[in-house]
Amino acid sequence: MKILKLKPYCKSAIWGGDKLRKDYGKESPFNVAESWELSGYPGKESIVCGGIYDGKSLTEVVNTMGAASLGTKSAKFNGIPLLIKLIDSKTPLSIQVHPDDETAKRLNADGGKTEMWVICDCEKDAFIYFGVKESISPETFKSAITDGTITEYLNKIPVKPGDTFFIKAGTIHAIGAGITICEIQQTSDTTYRLYDYKRLDSDGKPRELHIDKGIEASDLTPPTTFYEKGVPCGNELRLVECEYFTVSRLDVSQSLSTEIDNSSFASFTVLEGEGEIVCGKESVAVKKGDTVFAFAGAGEVVFKGALTVIKATL
Ligand SMILES: [Zn+2]
Repeated sequence: MKILKLKPYCKSAIWGGDKLRKDYGKESPFNVAESWELSGYPGKESIVCGGIYDGKSLTEVVNTMGAASLGTKSAKFNGIPLLIKLIDSKTPLSIQVHPDDETAKRLNADGGKTEMWVICDCEKDAFIYFGVKESISPETFKSAITDGTITEYLNKIPVKPGDTFFIKAGTIHAIGAGITICEIQQTSDTTYRLYDYKRLDSDGKPRELHIDKGIEASDLTPPTTFYEKGVPCGNELRLVECEYFTVSRLDVSQSLSTEIDNSSFASFTVLEGEGEIVCGKESVAVKKGDTVFAFAGAGEVVFKGALTVIKATL
């Protein structure tokens, strides 16, 4: 086996909408706020769908195949180092921050989290919060959280489908209402919630905030770039390249091929269209919302049909 179709781990949240079930084919008894498309996170793993590994978790399959199946670049990480999600926000997510590797270690968190977003769909006036507007002291920032004026200190960035953002660990951020996002990130589930708009959860209680740890993890200086325009790279548009991941957009009109060498496994998430992903004698039918995993060294992978695909490797 060289390529595997994956079934996500689905998660609900107070802010989630119904788009991942309605438009992205996610099967769940509840509204899906996040589908963890590619995940080796313990207890929240994605599952192989079809073929000889049908029903097994991706982690089990990778353990069976050995470390080389993730590629040489994975040696410095633990487990499956990428986590790829689809996220649907009916209402805004909390204002939050993730620590970098060093801060995560210091705060006993399960790992740093640098992430990136590709906007899939959004409502007309949708926006995100992304970093502070101007450098600010931890004391001023803390009082802005307490008195509920925190959003006045943050960059409010309008978004449209296709926009891409690189959210370095430490950058304060929030996905606004009415946005569907494809998120690529380090494997970590550490989120420090700084402000939750005084909302109550289904039990009528406010969700926990992590203000002190969050401020410690925050970069309180403004970001230098916002929108990532991408750079053409062969037949791909290279969106982001960082020490944790390399992500490209593939716009397939009939047929397009990409090479997966021994350095990294690959993940392909279909954001639009319908078609087929072929690798040697293997072929997987795909449509909007599907994710396919390719082992390192899979070789030539060919996309057929009309598809927009997000390709992620280490
Ligand atoms: Zn985040």
